[in-house]
Amino acid sequence: MKYFINEHCRGCGMCAKRCPRHAIHGAIGVRQQIRQEKCLHCGRCFRVCRFGAVEELPDGQPLPGEENCQDAPAPEDAEA
Ligand code: SF4
Ligand code: SF4
Repeated sequence: MKYFINEHCRGCGMCAKRCPRHAIHGAIGVRQQIRQEKCLHCGRCFRVCRFGAVEELPDGQPLPGEENCQDAPAPEDAEA
């Protein structure tokens, strides 16, 4: 399972306080981000968020935004 913080985030900082890997970053009051390479997939951020802003994504499903990266043409294609 992967975890992703969506647009409902209020930037309250509760998830970052609970994260054992300090994988969540962002200024207070703005949407937070999870550094996927540090995440242990423990789900604490998902359980602590009162705003439904942490989403669980099954393994293998791209994170929102990754689809666009994968679909984007390579720079050499874009120039052609
Ligand atoms: S606990 Fe929820 S609302 Fe608060 S910063 Fe984390 S994701 Fe955002
Ligand atoms: S799943 Fe656990 S390790 Fe990953 S960001 Fe959330 S609290 Fe941190």
